[in-house]
Amino acid sequence: SIPVLAIDGPSGSGKGTISRLVAQRVGWHFLDSGALYRGVGLAAAWGDIDLSDASALVRCTFDTQIQFLENGGGEPHIIVNGKDATDELRTETAGAAASAIAAIPEVRAALKDRQRAYRQPPGLVADGRDMGTVIFPDAPYKVFLTASAEERAERRHKQLSEKGISVTLPGLLREILARDARDATRAVAPLRPAEDAVRIDTTGLSIEAVVERVLALLPA
Ligand code: C5P
Repeated sequence: SIPVLAIDGPSGSGKGTISRLVAQRVGWHFLDSGALYRGVGLAAAWGDIDLSDASALVRCTFDTQIQFLENGGGEPHIIVNGKDATDELRTETAGAAASAIAAIPEVRAALKDRQRAYRQPPGLVADGRDMGTVIFPDAPYKVFLTASAEERAERRHKQLSEKGISVTLPGLLREILARDARDATRAVAPLRPAEDAVRIDTTGLSIEAVVERVLALLPA
């Protein structure tokens, strides 16, 4: 079957950067599953859908089109219902909306097949929270990335500053801790490592060092 490398972990653990680089290095497809949740969260906000209206959110999930446009090696542009939402999706507002809708079992179920459809030859690197546990439990390669909350907040801060989005570090740390707590304690697909995942603490490690450790898990 088509190989999958599942890379899970909390926000700011380096998942996005590492997954994208590893996918480029091995020439596999890449799934940014968080962008699907963010895209649906954003579409729900655009449509003024109440975050407590589960059936409206499920309809919104099925109705929301999310496309990844390759950007010549850079981060792909993400198009939500025809609109370039790349920058808006990165904000902590979109992250919080994603985390809220991601707690609804029917929304997660509605996104399942869509995520599995990315499993195409020659292979897939899948970045998320439940790639190794729920979406691709049979993945032959699984990694769980962690980092201290402080370092994760700093990385996020740097990422947002580079995009010209201004936020305070303490505020960001607070939001990240709140989102982690919600992701880890929700009833459906709580954030946790798969039993067979290789855990890597990226605190103090360079991106290249983490990429090398992950690549070492794959066949040469
Ligand atoms: O990874 P990212 O920060 O983009 O994800 C945003 C939110 O989407 C997470 O906080 C989480 O609640 C949700 N998510 C999820 N399952 C995934 C990916 C993201 O629940 N596979």
